[in-house]
Amino acid sequence: MSEKYDVIVIGGGPGGYVAAIRAAQLGYKTACIEKRINKQGDPALGGTCLNVGCIPSKALLDSSWKYHEAEEAFADHGIGVGKLNLDLDTMLQRKDKIVLQLTGGIAQLFKANKVDWLQGTGQLKANKQVVFKPLEGDEQTLEAENVVLAAGSVPIDIPVAEVDQQIIVDSTGALEFTSVPKKLGVIGAGVIGLELGSVWARLGSQVTVLEAVDTFLPAVDQQVAKEAMKQFTKQGLDIHLGARVTGSKKNKNSVRVTYTDGGGEQEETFDRLIVAVGRRPYTEGLLSQDAGVTLDERNFIYVDNQCRTDVPGVYAIGDLVRGPALAHKAIEEGVMVAEVIAGEHTQVNYDAVPGVIYTHPEVAWVGKTEEEVKESGEPYKTGVVPFAANGRALAAGESAGMVKFVVDEKSDRVLGMHVLGPQASELVQQGVISLEFGASIEDLQLMVFGHPSLSETVHEAALATDYKAIHVAQRRRKK
Ligand code: FAD
Ligand code: NAD
Repeated sequence: MSEKYDVIVIGGGPGGYVAAIRAAQLGYKTACIEKRINKQGDPALGGTCLNVGCIPSKALLDSSWKYHEAEEAFADHGIGVGKLNLDLDTMLQRKDKIVLQLTGGIAQLFKANKVDWLQGTGQLKANKQVVFKPLEGDEQTLEAENVVLAAGSVPIDIPVAEVDQQIIVDSTGALEFTSVPKKLGVIGAGVIGLELGSVWARLGSQVTVLEAVDTFLPAVDQQVAKEAMKQFTKQGLDIHLGARVTGSKKNKNSVRVTYTDGGGEQEETFDRLIVAVGRRPYTEGLLSQDAGVTLDERNFIYVDNQCRTDVPGVYAIGDLVRGPALAHKAIEEGVMVAEVIAGEHTQVNYDAVPGVIYTHPEVAWVGKTEEEVKESGEPYKTGVVPFAANGRALAAGESAGMVKFVVDEKSDRVLGMHVLGPQASELVQQGVISLEFGASIEDLQLMVFGHPSLSETVHEAALATDYKAIHVAQRRRKK
């Protein structure tokens, strides 16, 4: 007889492991099937995010930033460090240690919550049956009252630059360079291109980013994006917009890339090339022919706003489904489906999912951009205040960037918050809370913010929407 579970989750990334833990908390007999083998050769939970995504990239971003500061900024503080030494090996080992600590932590949480971690591959069949092929041993068919599909995503390949993980790499390979490439090419000026491009630029690479689209960060508020482009260019990222890669030819230790841009045919040789042109849902092997779930035109599993697929009792979450491919979105969908299964009132507020690019300065946003609001035709107001007017930012030597609010003119409701600057990833949460609570900008204007703090720029930007900011010169509104 096949084993029966209340909930089987396929995929142990941030969506899947969270769904499994929450389902177990709610009293369900739960299994999570995960097939990942980590770089040490061991089965691992945590998905893309913990193993080869959010966490290792942030570890390298933090290490490389410290190196950059020691090299460029310490002297301003009167700190001399002598000749700087880069021990890349130690830097990479530190990253690996953090990954192991966190992924091991998920395994502990599974034990504590009595979630069965089934190590191997899962495939959904009809009638909520799941074929489980263990890493070792025979295939078995499991049954479940509910199945949660959480298989995540994989990098998109482009035929003009095939990844070999040696010379031409994807994001996973870009976390593992054993020496700093002298000349590094990046295809795609999206989140991964900018974050990993920054890591290697800080460590000494000469970085060229080739972006097909003419607009820099088109999803980001363009006032913020333009300033970000200026800052990144100043840091040495050579970003080419409207650049279409037409081919690449590898040699033993380099790759010659051809591309076209406004200036015609171009050619450049790099020691390493990162391909970061987006990710696609990972459905290979996940669904048997009779599984019955519908895919949309872009191969995402089709779900409603509570992540139900077309098959009753089967849910899909995270990078497998519509919406931004972000760990925190996957996490909240994981919580939501477990609570939907339990019949609880629950939701994800898709209008208040923040986005962050962990460059320096960081870029972070939530809600609508000015361009989106303008297009809607509704009257709106904005308030923009630079960090250069903030004492704490100046004291820290972090005065680049700004906070911007976009506000509904009629209702005074906050529609969007956009930040380029120090700790933008933390500051943007104030915008998330404002959107979630339906705050008016006056609510923020009337709050007391600690001094000196970076958050004071949030306060000033709120005041600036009504020409009331104190520390910037604003044109007064006529009575
Ligand atoms: P995943 O994390 O991809 O997990 C899915 C898991 O399912 C995988 O481990 C896979 O092995 C397993 N699996 C797939 N098919 C099967 C099967 N048939 N049987 C068993 N197991 C299966 N997001 C952020 O919010 N912040 C960041 O800072 C950030 N940084 C990133 C940096 C990089 C370099 C990358 C690549 C991504 C980053 N992301 C970040 C995106 C984030 O990693 C994803 O949005 C998130 O991991 C999606 O979670 P998920 O649970 O849907 O899928
Ligand atoms: P992305 O969608 O952010 O950026 C891809 C970029 O590549 C786009 O600007 C696109 O126009 C460009 N592009 C596409 N095809 C191209 C081509 N042939 N030539 C040149 N440019 C091309 O994708 P990504 O950077 O690969 O990241 C994938 C996903 O991972 C993101 O959607 C994001 O959700 C997630 N992620 C998030 C974080 C974070 O939250 N900080 C960090 C890394 C990754």
